[in-house]
Amino acid sequence: MQEITLRTDRRTQLVDITRQVAEALESPDGASAALVFVPHTTAGVTINEHADPAVARDFAKAMEKMVGDGWGWEHIEEGEENAPSHIRAALMSPQVLVPISGGKLALGTWQGIFFCEFDGPRERKVYVSLLT
Ligand code: ZN
Repeated sequence: MQEITLRTDRRTQLVDITRQVAEALESPDGASAALVFVPHTTAGVTINEHADPAVARDFAKAMEKMVGDGWGWEHIEEGEENAPSHIRAALMSPQVLVPISGGKLALGTWQGIFFCEFDGPRERKVYVSLLT
């Protein structure tokens, strides 16, 4: 397993990590897929269009509107309601599985892998495991 570390700089932010995931693949020739896993409860990962960076910004805005900050949450952390961060993360996923073909990630033309921050800014980790 390889570990990627990244630093987010906004509360809600999608970060394109496609290049870091590709670089984290060690001897991918015999592998069938890469498992990309986020070990956090207020962050996730998704695959979507990365040709236009506006798509990532639109996702951040949409996630903040779909789960409201002022809904009277019960879960309080360090004096702050961060329940919406947990729920936004759950609307994404803690993992994506990407097939590997010819030693490379078999992503579609417009697809990129995004780390989804919902409680930043923070230092975060992503695990990349090759499946044979
Ligand atoms: Zn919490």
